[in-house]
Amino acid sequence: MSEKEIPYKIYLSENELPVSWYDVRADMKNKPAPLLDPVTHKELGFEDLRGVFCDELIKQELNTTEPYITIPTEIRDFYKMFRPSPLIRAYCLEKKLGTPAHIYYKFEGNNTSGSHKLNSAIAQAYYAKKQGLKGVTTETGAGQWGTALSMACSYFGLDCKVFMVKCSYEQKPFRREVMRTYGANVTPSPSETTEVGRRILAEHPGTTGSLGCAISEAVETERNLEGYRYVLGSVMSQVLLHQTVIGLETESALAKYDVVPDIIVGCAGGGSNLGGLIAPFARDKIKGKLDCQIIAVEPASCPSLTRGVFAYDYCDTGKITPLQKMYTLGSGFIPSANHAGGLRYHGMSAVISQLYHDGIIEARSVKQTEVFEAAQYFARIEGILPAPESSHAIRVALDEAIKCRETGEAKNIVFGLSGTGYFDMKAYQAFNDGTMSDYIPTDADLKQGLSGLPQFEGNTF
Ligand SMILES: *Cc1c(COP(=O)(O)O)cnc(C)c1O
Repeated sequence: MSEKEIPYKIYLSENELPVSWYDVRADMKNKPAPLLDPVTHKELGFEDLRGVFCDELIKQELNTTEPYITIPTEIRDFYKMFRPSPLIRAYCLEKKLGTPAHIYYKFEGNNTSGSHKLNSAIAQAYYAKKQGLKGVTTETGAGQWGTALSMACSYFGLDCKVFMVKCSYEQKPFRREVMRTYGANVTPSPSETTEVGRRILAEHPGTTGSLGCAISEAVETERNLEGYRYVLGSVMSQVLLHQTVIGLETESALAKYDVVPDIIVGCAGGGSNLGGLIAPFARDKIKGKLDCQIIAVEPASCPSLTRGVFAYDYCDTGKITPLQKMYTLGSGFIPSANHAGGLRYHGMSAVISQLYHDGIIEARSVKQTEVFEAAQYFARIEGILPAPESSHAIRVALDEAIKCRETGEAKNIVFGLSGTGYFDMKAYQAFNDGTMSDYIPTDADLKQGLSGLPQFEGNTF
C-alpha cells in the first residue's frame, strides 16, 4: 500500500483516536428505508422527532449522505479514558486450536460499564447537555445500557432516569447499585410512577415486567418532564454511528500491520456493536476494494435475520415508537424463558438489515449451550470472561478457525468482543451446573410473532 492510500491517516489523530465517526449509509447504494409514524404511516422528519430526541441526534438519525461526522472534542476527551480499545491477537487461542488462522479480537469491555455501550452513551449525554437539557430517560433490560448511560450522565452533570425491567432489578442488584453509584434514579418497571405502569400493574398484578413496558414508561416520563429527552442504546442509526469508533480503530490497527481481514464476526442484538465494527469494511466491500466475509451472529432462540421477515415493524412492544423497516420477528415476539444469553431484541438495526438484504453481510444463528461452551473455552485460554452476547461471536470465530485447521488456510479472522460477563454469572451458573438448555422457536411460534406486524399498504412481507 502506498503512503497516499493508507486510509487511517485521514481520520486518526496523533493519539490514535478517530476524529470522525463514519456513516456507512453515505456509501450504501440502497439506503435504509425512512422511519414512519406508527399511526399515520407517514415519513418522519426533523420536526416530528423533536419532542422525543435531542436535535443534534435527530440530524444524525436522518443523515444518509454525509460520510464523516466530526467527533466533538468533549466526547474525544472522554473517549481518551478508555480508547483506543485494544485489538488483541489471540496467540494462545490459535495455538490451542492448532489452527493456521490468525485470530484478532477488538475488546470493548475495558471500561467500568463493561461493554461498547459507553461509546454511544457519552455522545448522547453530550448532545443533551449541549442543548441545555436537564436530563434523559431510558429503559434497561439486563442493565448494560443503564450502566453506561449513568456513567455518561454523571460526567456531564445530567439527571438520568432509568426504568429497569423488574425481574432484572430484583435479580441483578449489583447492576442496579452501580447505576445508583453513578447518580442515576433507577425504578423497577412496571411502576406506580407512570400512567402506563399503573395500568399494567392493575391488569397484571405481580408481573415482572418487560422491555416493551419499560420503554413505554421511559417515554411517558420524558413527555411529562420539562427539559428531558428519551435516549436508547441500540438499533437506531445514530447509535451505530457512534459505535464506528470500534471499526475505525480496528481498520487502522490492522492497516498498521498490513493485515487484511478475510472474515469479520460480530454478535447482533439490535446491531450496534456489529454495525460499528464492520462499517469501514462494509464501505470497502461496497466499493469493491475488499473481498471479505462479514458475519452477524444471533441466538437461535431469537433469530431475526435468519428467520425473520424484512418489513416495517414497531421498535417496541408498546407500539409507540416509530416504525422501522428491518428484519423482525414481530414486536410481540418474546424469546423463551430459558434463554439466558442476551440479544433478545425482536428486530435488527435498519442499516444492518439493509446490508444483509443486499448481501454485503451474512448471518448465522447459534444455540446458547454452544455459545457458553465457546465462552468457557475462551475464558480458560485468553483469560477474559466474556459477556454471553459477545460469546456468540466467539462461537463463530472458533468454528471458522477450526475450518481453517481442516483446510490449512491461514485466514485472518477478526471478531468483536463487545463486553465482559461479570454480571451474568447466573447464566454461567446454569451452564456450569449443566441445567442450561436450548429452545429453538417453532415455525408456529414465529408465525404468532409475525401476526402482530403493522398492516398497511406497501408493507409487504
Ligand atoms: C447490549 C450488548 C450487546 C447487544 O447490542 P448490540 O446493539 O447488538 O451491539 C452485545 N454485547 C454486549 C456486551 C452488550 O452489552
